[in-house]
Amino acid sequence: MSALTPICVLCRLEMRCVKNDRLVRDPETNQFSSTYWLGDEFQCPVCSIRIVTGFGKPMVMSPGPEYGEALQFDYERPREPAVDARQEGDAE
Ligand SMILES: [Zn+2]
Repeated sequence: MSALTPICVLCRLEMRCVKNDRLVRDPETNQFSSTYWLGDEFQCPVCSIRIVTGFGKPMVMSPGPEYGEALQFDYERPREPAVDARQEGDAE
């Protein structure tokens, strides 16, 4: 086990890093302008849930195309649990 590697709570396993430098866009709000962050994307080898973690400092400049499409942070999404994928048997 590594101190930096996330653990899937459902599966009790270390997640795998599937992409370094995963670009995340924090969209503009009333008070703050849009910023970009780079993190590491991890995936659970069993249930396939994915997370991005390990962010450094925000990028000052807009990122170049070499980083690929940004994952847009979603402030609009309700903070309520979605349908439980385990009960639905909906793992990808
Ligand atoms: Zn899992």
